[in-house]
Amino acid sequence: MNPTLTTAAVRRGQKGGLVASGELPPLKHFIEGVFVSSSGATTTKIVNPSDASVICEVPEGTAEDVDRAVAAAKRAQTAWEQTTPKERSDLIHRVADRIEEHADVLARLESLNTGKPLATSQDDVAGTVDTFRFMAGAGRALTSMAAGDYAQGHTSVILREPVGIVGVVTPWNYPLLMAAWKIAPILAAGNSLVIKPSEQTPLTTLKLAELISDLLPAGVLNIVTGQGPSVGTRLAEHPDIDLVALTGSVNSGRSVATAAGSTVKRVHLELGGKAPVVIFADADLAAAAESLRAASYWNSGQECGAACRVLVHESVAEQFTELFVEQVRSFVIGDPLAGDDVEIGPMISEAHFHRVSGFLDRARQQGIPAAIGGGPLDGPGFFIAPTVLTDVPGGSEVSQEEIFGPVVTVETFSDEDEAIARANEVDYGLSASVWTGDAARSLDVPRKLHFGTVWVNSHLVLASEVPWGGFKGSGYGRDLSIYALEDFSRTKHVMLNHTR
Ligand code: NAD
Repeated sequence: MNPTLTTAAVRRGQKGGLVASGELPPLKHFIEGVFVSSSGATTTKIVNPSDASVICEVPEGTAEDVDRAVAAAKRAQTAWEQTTPKERSDLIHRVADRIEEHADVLARLESLNTGKPLATSQDDVAGTVDTFRFMAGAGRALTSMAAGDYAQGHTSVILREPVGIVGVVTPWNYPLLMAAWKIAPILAAGNSLVIKPSEQTPLTTLKLAELISDLLPAGVLNIVTGQGPSVGTRLAEHPDIDLVALTGSVNSGRSVATAAGSTVKRVHLELGGKAPVVIFADADLAAAAESLRAASYWNSGQECGAACRVLVHESVAEQFTELFVEQVRSFVIGDPLAGDDVEIGPMISEAHFHRVSGFLDRARQQGIPAAIGGGPLDGPGFFIAPTVLTDVPGGSEVSQEEIFGPVVTVETFSDEDEAIARANEVDYGLSASVWTGDAARSLDVPRKLHFGTVWVNSHLVLASEVPWGGFKGSGYGRDLSIYALEDFSRTKHVMLNHTR
């Protein structure tokens, strides 16, 4: 690789404050429509990853707090499940309106807590509004099989019912958006819920509750802040919770599924990813490089669908890599208020910064070259330079494990069968993309890839109408679309004997 391609990225610092102290939400649990104190005395420090400063402290909930929240949800559910789809839809539209009215403070709070560039947080809030609006409409259009006579003298009717009480656990990478992906369909389908945001990023979920507390019936939406192994596990094992949904890492998913097994409740898991990007020699390489700039490094690569593992045909590998590195070179890295042109923020925490740096250190020790980037940037804060690793051997750690940072690996292949086999070799099955100018290949290859979403000549384009979810180690269940509403409801067969 041409050594002139290697540059040290520069991090730009922030001026001014993002959020006034009066704009923080109440730092308490939200149960039965009001903010309440925790039964425990311990708290978690909430850190601004742009400068490592402590923003505030949030209570670590206990099993007792979860039990209180579940009891509140149960009381609310009796009336809530009898509301009509239209009544729920009207309420959810008003929730969307309220979020839209307060989009600015929600985006600034999200950037404060995650270090995301403001434009990224604004995009998250826009996606949140759209999720609520879509589910408000789609909940009214849920249908089931038509009634019919399938046994002599009997008419079958299929009812679609809410599941009941849902426990939800969300991650730190899109705190508000991932909460919306669960809250909106769960409410639209007529369920009540108790949600635990990530212990690192609870602020926008609490702010959402503050903003909409007068709209929803008390107890329909409850929030318990705290740690996964305590609050999350209690949600998963609680006998009065009918379904537990987690977005997070594979390990957390495994643990929730195990705990849920004791009460045989339904489980919905959106877990990690390691998206292969298969670029054939007939692809438009310049268009691919330009699209992948955003798809690989959006949210600083802390994105389960990130285009992080390029598999490119050996005949065009050098040309593609040069085009891609030129794209990556143009990134501006910095704090949320460091300028409208900032596109890359910090890693979420010091621990995650060390985790991502560790992958880069080990890659260097294995002799894997960085065409650009390759390590941390000067602090304060937890910044890593956007990185492209080239000549990556198949099967190596960086080509198989989810790094969850601004790191893209480039491997080569010789023919289509090899590309498909190598793309499928990871334990994950969330998303993938295929880049080709051949119409038949663009229909045929996606069918052979074991991923819940496969884009062709695109990557990381999402819409509320289409499902998001994985295969294999990436979990099961679908977010967004009518399929999420199906996941958060159940069918009942009622059969009427009309023999005379
Ligand atoms: P994480 O698994 O560490 O935490 C996610 C949530 O699970 C947090 O609220 C955490 O407190 C909780 N948790 C942790 N251990 C638990 C346990 N034993 N029982 C119950 N809950 C537990 O994940 P993270 O670091 O916050 O998020 C990053 C991960 O999330 C990545 O792997 C990423 O790919 C995945 N993710 C997936 C999607 C998707 O749609 N598939 C979306 C966003 C993030």
